Amino acid sequence: MVMTNGTFSAVKPVVVIGGGLAGLTAAVFLAQSNHNVLLLERSPNLGGRAQTQHKEGFSFNLGPHAIRHGDVAYTILSEMGVQVDGGFPSVSGSLAVNRNRLFQLPFSPVSIFTTGLFSLAEKMEVIRFFTTLESIDTAQLLDTSVQDWVNRTFQHETTRNFVKAFVRVTTYGNAPELMSVGTVLAQIQFALKHQVLYLHGGWESLVRQLEQKALAAGVEIRSGVQVRHITRDEAGQVTGVQLATGEAVPAAAAIVCASPQIASSLVADKPDSSLARWSRQLVPINAACLDVALTRLPEAKHLFALGIDQPWYYSVHSATARLAPGEGVLLHVAKYLPPQAAEDPKQVRAELEGLLDLVQPGWREFLVHQRFLPEIPVTHATPTTEMRGTLGRPGVAVPDIAGLFLAGDWVGSRGLLIDASIASAKEAALQTARFLVNGSFQAASKPMAISA
Ligand SMILES: Cc1cc2nc3c(=O)[nH]c(=O)nc-3n(C[C@H](O)[C@H](O)[C@H](O)COP(=O)(O)OP(=O)(O)OC[C@H]3O[C@@H](n4cnc5c(N)ncnc54)[C@H](O)[C@@H]3O)c2cc1C
Repeated sequence: MVMTNGTFSAVKPVVVIGGGLAGLTAAVFLAQSNHNVLLLERSPNLGGRAQTQHKEGFSFNLGPHAIRHGDVAYTILSEMGVQVDGGFPSVSGSLAVNRNRLFQLPFSPVSIFTTGLFSLAEKMEVIRFFTTLESIDTAQLLDTSVQDWVNRTFQHETTRNFVKAFVRVTTYGNAPELMSVGTVLAQIQFALKHQVLYLHGGWESLVRQLEQKALAAGVEIRSGVQVRHITRDEAGQVTGVQLATGEAVPAAAAIVCASPQIASSLVADKPDSSLARWSRQLVPINAACLDVALTRLPEAKHLFALGIDQPWYYSVHSATARLAPGEGVLLHVAKYLPPQAAEDPKQVRAELEGLLDLVQPGWREFLVHQRFLPEIPVTHATPTTEMRGTLGRPGVAVPDIAGLFLAGDWVGSRGLLIDASIASAKEAALQTARFLVNGSFQAASKPMAISA
């Protein structure tokens, strides 16, 4: 334990700031290799955006959450002994919404021919897209935007919109002019071979398991504690953190697992820091979400729909994962928001309710509970052409502040969303451990035991 009878022991801990999936993962890796770790979370609850809230027996993730089987996060979590337990949603019977009409969503060669969504010429373009996708050299396309690539590759408006809808559902991004098509197509290539999982009990199941592992490894977790400032010595090296209460906590190193804006604010006395630059440059991806619990579905077969001409998503997660009691239904409707959207929340909510009227007419009769999130950050870094996709994201070590490390969905070059968070968390733990071993000060470390 770091705290003994209200006073900190002489051995300085690594302070992990943020108790979301990234913070918990970094803390587990460090503590399991015998480093002294103190995790500070400003909210009373752990989990950050991976929290699941419970209402009348329904488990509400914060908007629709799915984890890709076999991707980086799945692999690292499984290696840590975390059960990633859920079901694979079925694509059969999925719908496309175009000009407020419902069509069969084409996922296979047969459905491309049978759907009424496309003209014959559009069908040929879509077939060509799927048959050539695997052979595209995505590394050559990192500087090309989704919009430019779509315009030059496809002739027809509906095909272009269909491909952009595919981009949105795979990456959450609705910024075709900004996004690197190389990164996006690589993600789609992987996605076509690896399905997503909706998790039983919601993403909280990951949070609880990581919390248990952290406690078992000796991490001290303090929630309801906000860090306000990272203190440094004259050489600029991290010496501790200051809490919002004014309390000073000494630290051998710190890992910030929060947004770039929060990371930058923690060293606000260094306005020229790389953190300040990243917090200005990175473009977040935001979504509006309507999370709905029903006693039953009016249209039992309508389990998934994707907007083609509008950036909409609809999915009944309880059809796949245990998220609702008995016959109850937990579904998510979402709008992929463009960057810097200044949309009227009332209008967005009406839009999402309108989508639900279309796919589940009469749903209000069966309503148990609904929650609207007008604008929530899904990830803090759009993979832009300017950054060459994920390659230009900040690394885990802050170059101009010794002893300061980062993890989150905007850090490191591996993966998007949870994959980036978990991959960077593991890497941040590894580099922090290395720093402690090589550091010139008294550190709470034993030799590093994390494999890369
Ligand atoms: C609507 C929505 C849908 C999503 N869907 C998917 C999906 O389908 N697939 C996918 O892979 N990902 C998805 N994501 C993204 C995924 O939830 C996040 O990438 C992941 O949970 C990020 O975890 P994190 O720990 O990096 O950040 P967060 O979860 O944001 O954790 C940061 C933590 O830091 C704490 N904190 C902040 N400031 C301080 C401070 N000063 N002191 C102490 N603590 C502080 C915060 O309270 C928070 O708990 C979705 C996100 C949203 C919002």
